[in-house]
Amino acid sequence: MYDFVVVGVGPAGARFSRRAAEQGYDVLALEKGTVGTPLACSGHVSTDIWAFTGEGAREELFQNEIYGARFHVGGPHSTAYPFYKDDVASNVIDRVGLDRHLADLAREAGADVREAHTVTAVTEHDDHIAVVVNGPDGVLEVEGKMLAGCDGPRSRVREALSLPEPDELLHGVLAFSDEVDHENFVDVHLTAPTFFAWRIPRGEAGVEYGLAAPPGVQVTKHFEELIDGYEIDVAHRCSGAIPIGPPSRVTSRRAFLIGDAAAQTKPFTGGGILYGMTAADHAAREINPDRPATLAAYERAWRDDLEREQSLGHILRRAYSLPEPVQRIGLNALSGEIGVHMDRPTSLVSPSHLKTMLSRLRP
Ligand SMILES: Cc1cc2nc3c(=O)[nH]c(=O)nc-3n(C[C@H](O)[C@H](O)[C@H](O)COP(=O)(O)OP(=O)(O)OC[C@H]3O[C@@H](n4cnc5c(N)ncnc54)[C@H](O)[C@@H]3O)c2cc1C
Repeated sequence: MYDFVVVGVGPAGARFSRRAAEQGYDVLALEKGTVGTPLACSGHVSTDIWAFTGEGAREELFQNEIYGARFHVGGPHSTAYPFYKDDVASNVIDRVGLDRHLADLAREAGADVREAHTVTAVTEHDDHIAVVVNGPDGVLEVEGKMLAGCDGPRSRVREALSLPEPDELLHGVLAFSDEVDHENFVDVHLTAPTFFAWRIPRGEAGVEYGLAAPPGVQVTKHFEELIDGYEIDVAHRCSGAIPIGPPSRVTSRRAFLIGDAAAQTKPFTGGGILYGMTAADHAAREINPDRPATLAAYERAWRDDLEREQSLGHILRRAYSLPEPVQRIGLNALSGEIGVHMDRPTSLVSPSHLKTMLSRLRP
């Protein structure tokens, strides 16, 4: 009987496995494929990422540093409204490498991380959780005192335990050109219904073009328009789902969700790497596998930390759907230097941001 069986070894599962193993718990982490693949993520993260990684990570994973974003109401040739910090705001990193690095840290901490193991069924009992796994040597059944569902936006664990679905699943697409680009700005185009398209310079690793929008919207058509506008050839197309929430509950009797499975993402960007790992830390700190009542403490802790950020994120996202003339006026009025932390919309009312905004008023 394991203390924790973890389903999915993305950033959330790897981080939780590492932290739980460091506390001396017996952790089995099951990944259906090869850690890090297939890629469906930009790997654009705040510099806080380096607080979650181990030795040598920056040298291995870093691709480019970003100071700000140029917002456009239209396509590539439309007016750009820059928002920037006077310091590095974010980094673009190798996302496949990040997942491998985080999984290695979990292994080093003592977690039993197994690739090519797909969880196909989960049953919750009064005193344990039973998990059916399809692995390279056939089907096996494992038992754990608790189960962590870290299996991404279309979580099988969430479905098996009848936990609430996220409010929305956006459809994101990505592709890459081989332009070498060390520029320090990303471009954001408010051309996709209710969300946006983007261009991210990745240094020597080329340039990424992407777009996300609700299903039903013609994502491919909007993406082709973006690529045509930039007059560039792209390759390695990939796509993935972005859950937007949060759902009303992410815990059951002996199981809990972390990361995309729990829609722990930023509603205004879809980014979830840092929220997922932050929630994983709350889970590892609060949950005792011998005391199911501690699940409530996890539910409280991650919401206390992130739910207000998500609520403000929803409000920011509404601006993507304003009429174009209103967007132009707003972008024109607000663009310039800002003091906002990209993961923390509440920092819009932080002293550093207010100071930056006030300093713009000085003659
Ligand atoms: C187009 C796009 C661009 C994005 N860009 C960014 C960005 O720039 N910055 C950012 O912060 N976030 C970004 N995101 C979001 C980010 O990718 C996710 O928030 C993040 O991957 C969530 O981590 P996770 O560990 O919760 O889930 P995942 O990374 O999805 O990991 C889940 C893991 O579970 C495994 N799994 C699933 N089912 C099973 C099963 N039955 N058995 C065993 N294993 C299973 C999967 O194989 C996978 O490895 C982007 C997402 C998309 C779609």
